[in-house]
Amino acid sequence: MSISSELFARAQHTIPGGVNSPVRAFKSVGGEPFFVAKAEGAYLYDVDGKRYIDYIGSWGPMLLGHNNPVIREAVIAAAANGLSFGAPCPAEVTMAEKVAELVPSMEMLRMVSSGTEATMSAIRLARGYTGRDTIVKFEGCYHGHADSLLVKAGSGALTLGVPNSPGVPADFAKYTLTCEFNNLAQIQQLFAEQGEQIACIIVEPVAGNMNCIPPEPGFLEGLRQLCDDYGSVLIFDEVMTGFRVALGGAQAYYGVTPDLTTLGKIIGGGMPVGAFGGKKAIMQHIAPLGPVYQAGTLSGNPIAMAAGLAAMQEISKPGVYEALTEKTAQLIKGLAQAAAKHGIPVSFNQVGGMFGMFFTAEGRVSNFQQATRCDIDAFKRFFHLMLEQGIYLAPSAYEAGFLSLAHSDEDLAETIAAADYAFAALK
Ligand code: PLP
Repeated sequence: MSISSELFARAQHTIPGGVNSPVRAFKSVGGEPFFVAKAEGAYLYDVDGKRYIDYIGSWGPMLLGHNNPVIREAVIAAAANGLSFGAPCPAEVTMAEKVAELVPSMEMLRMVSSGTEATMSAIRLARGYTGRDTIVKFEGCYHGHADSLLVKAGSGALTLGVPNSPGVPADFAKYTLTCEFNNLAQIQQLFAEQGEQIACIIVEPVAGNMNCIPPEPGFLEGLRQLCDDYGSVLIFDEVMTGFRVALGGAQAYYGVTPDLTTLGKIIGGGMPVGAFGGKKAIMQHIAPLGPVYQAGTLSGNPIAMAAGLAAMQEISKPGVYEALTEKTAQLIKGLAQAAAKHGIPVSFNQVGGMFGMFFTAEGRVSNFQQATRCDIDAFKRFFHLMLEQGIYLAPSAYEAGFLSLAHSDEDLAETIAAADYAFAALK
């Protein structure tokens, strides 16, 4: 029995499903997860000594690669001064200024400790600001696990087939309306009927929790227009896309400016961090300036700020996003060629350093229905064939893939060679 298997068996006794976040349990692909001993650059090393080329990057944060020395040293240096103060520290100010510089629509922002906290707080703020209760999200988009947002959610919730989780009161869920991603006509119709009651639209500007689905031209612009017309708040949930698809996030990439933005993952450089922010006129409604309550014992934690600031410094260097985009394109090209060689129908999406791979003969995938029509069994077999060869893809057909700057040409070539073998075996 491997050490991972022993640990997984032990974990079942005291941790629900043996994991602290559901998708890690491999439920949707079958088999058992490996336990990680250490991570370095593009690689994870499991407790049994096997090396994997990692295309998850801790679900997004590891844009610079694992255990980046600049971030590590910043964390060690900050730790020497204490782990948490519960009082303001200078790094929080620098962090806010840096984020506002990189994402100018975030005129004011507040730090939190996860993406879930960021979206939950942004929703409360939008409701408090507008005095309206109803919110709109899109089918297959995941915004963390706050009650209002676990309605037709993507990611683990979609994978597990529990889009409406037990424990979310129907009375809460009724204030969350759901539209189809990339279907502008549908949400226009909804606003025509009840726009005056809608506090906000929350959207992943590139959907990354139903695999990877970019917005169709005009979709984000149309959402912007609706919010302007009806006095609703437009929230871009950039927890995944922020600093991933471009330095200024999806809003810079597509040139559409939201009222509020939520961030997470990369902003923490691997530490538990999130942020929400936007227009001053809206952010001024947050306590202690305004009446909308929001707080956090560990918010703005000095170690987390040090990690995040080091990450921001590194990703601000010239050429980072060109390199990341080019590496991602190179990988996709190789995978597509390997699939074509063996006659396996697959379709790819890419935005910057984020990509999706769909087992489908339908061609380009641009909505949730298409994503869920893909051949999940083919994906499962492909996942395991790749894993056996030391290539770690997300253990679900509904997750985006992430590259890092640490992925070398050799890593990409090894991945494509493994895919060639896997596609051949799928035939
Ligand atoms: N929003 C988006 C778009 C996400 O992808 C995620 C997590 O994957 C979240 C919010 C929730 O973030 P966290 O897991 O840090 O709570």
